[in-house]
Amino acid sequence: PPFFPMAAELSHPLIVDGWFREISEQWPGDGTAGQAMTLRVKKVLHTEKSLYQDVLVFESTDHGNVLVLDGAIQCVERDEFSYQEMIAHLPLASHPNPEKVLVIGGGDGGVLREVLKHPSVKSATLCDIDEAVPRVSKQFLPHMAAGFNDPRVTVFIGDGFKFLDDKKNEFDVIITDSSDPVGPANSLFQKPYFQLLKESLREGGTISTQGECVWLHLPLINDLMSMSRTLFPKAEFGWTSIPTYPSGTIGFVVATLDGKRDLRTPLRDIQGCRYWSKAIHRQAFTLPAFAQAVVDKS
Ligand code: SAM
Repeated sequence: PPFFPMAAELSHPLIVDGWFREISEQWPGDGTAGQAMTLRVKKVLHTEKSLYQDVLVFESTDHGNVLVLDGAIQCVERDEFSYQEMIAHLPLASHPNPEKVLVIGGGDGGVLREVLKHPSVKSATLCDIDEAVPRVSKQFLPHMAAGFNDPRVTVFIGDGFKFLDDKKNEFDVIITDSSDPVGPANSLFQKPYFQLLKESLREGGTISTQGECVWLHLPLINDLMSMSRTLFPKAEFGWTSIPTYPSGTIGFVVATLDGKRDLRTPLRDIQGCRYWSKAIHRQAFTLPAFAQAVVDKS
């Protein structure tokens, strides 16, 4: 077969000369970085305009299948486990007995897959605003979407903010696996949402939320951390390495109602992880000095 596929298989406005380019005003952050991630495309698998966002799925030449929403990479099969494992296991492994878990966003199913690795979990609920994401993920990202078939899982399609409105003292852990704060996920980065998260937790409950990148979004991280610290007795910022997210890292706000909880110490091991380990968990909250200074002051 020819090394470069036929042009028709590469036809999409975000694909130029066979490379998908993730160019967005969100990544320059302070307006100076001028950088973008590119991935070489083998074939466009799916495009649609859903009710909420532009959906693109393509097969890359070297990194497996890739889900893109509104031009922003959501998951890449080669490295997605880093993000899914860390956003899920930092709150779950430090919680003494997580039984009821909620995922807001996360329509690709990856976080759900990780939640279900915890034998203590009796129910896992997922609420994503866009039915298109679980639908295309089941078709094109089957290793991520596998958890949707587990009998412990219930899926709701709707806005995560509205979903939480009437939930009080219900969940041990709530994980917000949202897209970036531009578009439908904007409300998930604001204080009223964090207030709802707090009220929806059971005693001793823990949240984790997608916390963007220390290289690009320190002002946002500062806001998220100071907001969390006004609402929760304990809030920390963890991070992980992931090659295909902007600047190769992404962070998480992890906060708990239990002021005595040591979020940095895993209470048990987890079977079947490829990135998370007890050692990685313990060091995930240690930041480079320039970021640590911001988080310490927030
Ligand atoms: N890990 C990814 C990242 O950081 O790029 C995010 C993955 S996941 C696909 C993000 C999901 O959040 C999307 O499926 C999107 O539909 C969902 N989402 C965005 N805004 C939402 C809202 N207000 N309520 C519920 N889900 C939302």
